[in-house]
Amino acid sequence: MKYDVIVGGGGTAGVAAAIAAARGGARTLVIEQYGHLGGTAVSGIPFLGSMDCNGEIVNRGIFNELIEKMKDGDGCFGYATGAYWHTPQTPERYRFSLVPFDPEYYKYVAQELVLGAGAKVLYHTFISDVIMEDNRIKAIEVVNKSGKQIIEADVFVDCTGDADLVHLAGGSFIDNPHKQNCSILFRIGNVDLEQFAADLEEGKTVTGWGDWHTRVIKAHNNNTLPTTIIHLAGHMVLGENEPETTFTAVSLRDSEISLNATRVAGLSGVDAEQVTQAEILERRNVMHLFKLMKEKIPAFRDARLLTTSPIGFRQTRNIVGDYIITMEDIVGGAKFPDSVAKGAYPIDIHDPQGGRTRFFFIQSGGSYDIPYRSLLPKDVEGLLVAGRTISATHEANGSTRIMGCVTAQGEAVGTAAALAVACKVTPRQVGIEKLREILIANGAII
Ligand SMILES: Cc1cc2nc3c(=O)[nH]c(=O)nc-3n(C[C@H](O)[C@H](O)[C@H](O)COP(=O)(O)OP(=O)(O)OC[C@H]3O[C@@H](n4cnc5c(N)ncnc54)[C@H](O)[C@@H]3O)c2cc1C
Repeated sequence: MKYDVIVGGGGTAGVAAAIAAARGGARTLVIEQYGHLGGTAVSGIPFLGSMDCNGEIVNRGIFNELIEKMKDGDGCFGYATGAYWHTPQTPERYRFSLVPFDPEYYKYVAQELVLGAGAKVLYHTFISDVIMEDNRIKAIEVVNKSGKQIIEADVFVDCTGDADLVHLAGGSFIDNPHKQNCSILFRIGNVDLEQFAADLEEGKTVTGWGDWHTRVIKAHNNNTLPTTIIHLAGHMVLGENEPETTFTAVSLRDSEISLNATRVAGLSGVDAEQVTQAEILERRNVMHLFKLMKEKIPAFRDARLLTTSPIGFRQTRNIVGDYIITMEDIVGGAKFPDSVAKGAYPIDIHDPQGGRTRFFFIQSGGSYDIPYRSLLPKDVEGLLVAGRTISATHEANGSTRIMGCVTAQGEAVGTAAALAVACKVTPRQVGIEKLREILIANGAII
């Protein structure tokens, strides 16, 4: 079997990469270990960072198309705005915004957009090895119910979230002594959101609730929305002997809330034993917190646990690319001549020791560029990378991993892969001006 482009991993970045590559005319295959597309994006979290702190949208293109398609099916209402960041580090009047969406609807929309673009999807298939010719990937080995197969392509795109292809190809990684921690995200139903909002406003029921860093209590853009709370993030203490919990709660539907509130530190997302341990510990943490919330917060008294996500690692491997994005680049709002995407979320680091989340803001309140060079793994040819594994330091990764930026990176690498195939060159040899021209013509903001 041979394709022009193979996208490894059909998650947040992989969806956009597959759509872009197929629309660029490449015979494209996307390989995904689960039975649906979306990856971490379908854990019940909102899109963050696609509007900067000055209120300017910085990710459009395929990202915007996904939002618009979900709106058609009532799976999304677009941007929720009108709130301001509230941390000791936040410069005054930095806007906060988000795009909440229904993860189940996203799975459907992503699948139909990928198939509609002409890409082929292979679900329930794990990429287990690569076949190299010198330093260029020629083929991959996959494992699924049909056994093992070898699939060739001209260009590979690594969107596995763990840079599995780069790892298997013998590429280099940034030696990060610290890694962000991991969490299971969970969705709760039968929550009295009106009461929750009222109690929060009055400072009741959630000790320390006033110490929030972002809060959108009412829908600001869409008055017809039935929910009261859209997003709340901060710190709560649910009992005398309980540690302070940093949490994010987001609601799209009446009486439902998704929580990002528990975590395990110090485990690796690329070690099978440790991944298993993380699942076990986090499942216990979620159940413990859910029970406490029912006990301590009146609005959650009759709540039901609806779904839990697989364990999500905020950071595993970061490649060494032709350029490494740094914290200074993000905070200083760096501009690059080979920019192919933008990010605008502040650096958001979940303390590896389990303490409070730290934020570092883009000074101008605007955005920074993602240079094409940070998507090219050093020493490996025929391969592009997008997602939380791009060439960025631990601190910079605290921003580049956010989903608006990741989706834009996916569109950039998919477009570059198709261009490389059309021009019969390697991704490293792609003409940057031509690539930027196509991205702009397709509506991307670069
Ligand atoms: C707990 C948590 C909370 C977060 N909260 C937010 C938030 O609120 N808002 C926000 O914008 N961002 C948030 N983020 C960050 C963001 O969600 C991720 O950084 C981003 O989604 C990662 O995208 P990705 O494409 O790199 O990886 P993923 O979306 O994880 O996709 C990787 C895909 O590759 C597949 N895969 C992996 N290995 C293989 C293989 N060998 N073979 C085949 N398939 C494979 C996986 O199944 C998956 O579908 C959060 C992250 C985490 C972990």
